[in-house]
Amino acid sequence: MPISLSQKEKIWESVLSLLKETIEDRHVFDSFFATTKLYKIDGNKFIILTTSKLSYTFLSSRYLSSIENAVKNVTETNYSISFINQDDIQSSIQTMGEEPKHNFFQSCSLNSKYTFDNFVVGNSNQEAVQASLFITTSPGESFNPLFIYSKSGLGKTHLLHAIGNHIKEKRPFYRVLYITTDAFIDEFVKYVRGNQQDESLKDFLKTVDVLLVDDIQFLSEKNKTAEMFFNVFNFLISNGKQVVLTSDKSPNELKGLDDRLVSRFNMGLSVNIKNPDVDTCIEILKRKIEANSLNINDFDYDGLVYLAENFSRNVRELEGALNRLLFYKINSKHTSKIDVDTIMESVSGIKAIKDKSKTLTEERIIEAVGDYYRLTEEQIKSKVRTSQIALARQICMYLCRNLLNTPFVQIGKIFGGRDHSTVMTAVEKVENLLKTDTQLSTAISQIKKSLQ
Ligand code: ADP
Ligand code: MG
Repeated sequence: MPISLSQKEKIWESVLSLLKETIEDRHVFDSFFATTKLYKIDGNKFIILTTSKLSYTFLSSRYLSSIENAVKNVTETNYSISFINQDDIQSSIQTMGEEPKHNFFQSCSLNSKYTFDNFVVGNSNQEAVQASLFITTSPGESFNPLFIYSKSGLGKTHLLHAIGNHIKEKRPFYRVLYITTDAFIDEFVKYVRGNQQDESLKDFLKTVDVLLVDDIQFLSEKNKTAEMFFNVFNFLISNGKQVVLTSDKSPNELKGLDDRLVSRFNMGLSVNIKNPDVDTCIEILKRKIEANSLNINDFDYDGLVYLAENFSRNVRELEGALNRLLFYKINSKHTSKIDVDTIMESVSGIKAIKDKSKTLTEERIIEAVGDYYRLTEEQIKSKVRTSQIALARQICMYLCRNLLNTPFVQIGKIFGGRDHSTVMTAVEKVENLLKTDTQLSTAISQIKKSLQ
């Protein structure tokens, strides 16, 4: 497998420094070891270049296992070690082992800014992170392909780059290719338009050790491109190369894709990323605030909870909202803490919040529930605990949450200053009742209808 000259030098330098610690006789080290080089890594073979026949025989007969251990230590791979003597090589070693030049996928590259270090782990994404980390320890050996799916903005692309960056860090000589499905389709179209006999794109893809393909759902209905992908995919998997795919749907939900591909995708492991919970969102906010050299304590905690609750469906939007807030913080010469109202105001122009207020409001929900149960707005918002009023109030809270995703804190404020745990309990209660109580579910569906 081709690797660059500087990568080879780095690896070999590390192996030699490890060996130096174990070889007692300095003369032996200087004369036999220090004169060697890493010739190339080819698949499972780690080939060492010696400068004389004597050194070739000496090292291969006496020091094979020490070298094997040192190589394993540095590369975390069980390579089979072999030697080649300089005289036996015709071509110059300077040019050997460099990455072959190619013009494919010029628009795609690994983005070093996406790493495991800056990916916040919570219940919603833990399985995906564990599976991703797992495959970086032994690419191609298990969970192949790894299929990561989720709605947009929940970290699939981030994880894909993190996998690539991590593998490259541990195994600099691995050929890791990150591509988007769009870029793959573009390259394929170019390839078909050009010389059909030219197999260079396919051949190129078959040389990679790790193939990371983002947004594979775009392959739907692209039969010819999918056929080519199927071919490359099978080749890589059957040769023990790691493939990781992301998609906005699970393999079985991918419509318009060849069944053979779907069943191949199901051969490995599929993991789903769900919406992050509030704590995870707060942690994401905290990290991004710190990355901007600010302190989380400069912001009212309830305000951050407000952002977390409003934008938890999409981390990209959560970041957008935070950027607005940071912009605000940096531009306003406030030295004091940014309070909850200011935080709410700073994001009030964001589409997600505007859309919500245009179509449906908490007030309209209260009105509709009141109409249904013949209660006034005051009665619903009051502290009265008679069973029907209490139920109507709980239904209102449930609908505010369910239809508007209104933060619990805010619902509590609307309903006479109740705290957020009371609201949570009320919402849960309605959710549970709905499982068995048909009268309630009829009522709620009629109220929902009246709101449309
Ligand atoms: P997707 O590919 O699923 O649409 P991305 O990977 O592009 O989502 O994520 C959108 C943005 O949110 C990126 O900037 C990413 O860094 C960030 N992000 C998503 N999840 C997390 C997380 N758990 N921790 C930190 N940042 C995250
Ligand atoms: Mg993405």
